[in-house]
Amino acid sequence: MRPVGRGNRGKQVVDIQTRLAALGFFLGREGADGMFGPHTEVAIREFQQRRLLVADGVVGENTWTELVEAGYKPGERLLYLRVPFMRGDDVLSLQRRLDELGFDCGPVDGIFNPALEVAVTDFQRNAGLNLDGIVGETTFAALRRLQKVQTDVPAGNIPDRMNGYVGRRALPGLRVSIDPAHGGTEVGTMARGGLSEKYINLKLGLSLSRLLRESGASVYLLRDDDVTIGQYERVEAAGAWEPDLHLCLHHNSCASLKAEGAATYYFGNPFYSSETGKRCAGYIVDALSRELGRPDLHTHARNYSSLREVKPLSVRVEPGFITHPEEGPRLADPTEIGREAVAVLHGIEAFLARL
Ligand SMILES: [Zn+2]
Repeated sequence: MRPVGRGNRGKQVVDIQTRLAALGFFLGREGADGMFGPHTEVAIREFQQRRLLVADGVVGENTWTELVEAGYKPGERLLYLRVPFMRGDDVLSLQRRLDELGFDCGPVDGIFNPALEVAVTDFQRNAGLNLDGIVGETTFAALRRLQKVQTDVPAGNIPDRMNGYVGRRALPGLRVSIDPAHGGTEVGTMARGGLSEKYINLKLGLSLSRLLRESGASVYLLRDDDVTIGQYERVEAAGAWEPDLHLCLHHNSCASLKAEGAATYYFGNPFYSSETGKRCAGYIVDALSRELGRPDLHTHARNYSSLREVKPLSVRVEPGFITHPEEGPRLADPTEIGREAVAVLHGIEAFLARL
């Protein structure tokens, strides 16, 4: 989809505004008028912040998907295992509830996967319900009844389980998918002097995949050329290849020219985060800041589609700021990108060594 933002108008904007209003966001006196004005932008930013997305006030593919998913209330539709997997906040509430009750349903990510079906059937057996793996009003009601009994529920410390399970402890044989972000018509951010992010990401992807292959890993590079690929097309392709580790490569940007340094991201939403993702992302950002002498901006939990959709382990890497007056121009130098690739490799090695 083409991103929708400030100044856009039409049916799609009405749809966005209607969804925001249903979620309780204030759109000003004008309401859902089909005009993407300041109130709509503020509401979108707040929505993005709450859901751990990039708070840019623009509705791209990821934010649109989250808006749709946020609209699903528990019990409004039947939930069950099908392909493609059902997604939404109703699935998320189901997972949270089952998880609190001690049923192992895998990552709490709003996706109805096979592990969730097993947990649902387990719960139904325990509650004396029909063992059909289908969650409708009856199962939700049973889950709610239990909620009233149990009040002392530990939150925010959910172990990782199948999300983040890595079968190998060394690079030989490790399956790594690499997505150099943007490409084609999607340029990413631009540095002064015209250097665009899509080229740097690609150079880093090529360099890193060469290093990984030399170390015995098998690599799936999502693009080795300047082509346009949709966000969800990327995660689907990576997921279908079944990697042990997925890396999404970006370079950061900021309106403030002072921003510099390396950062990484792993999957998390307001209720769950991947422990293994955090560890892996931590080793990578450590290596980047140490070896390149860049400020350490640490690792953060985010709900980006690239992190949520690709299992079992996905890390987004942002080695530097393209907009920084010193860091930016250095990125045009292939040697500097080569050093970034080596640092990422060292980060992965350090992570695997301590699994
Ligand atoms: Zn980017």
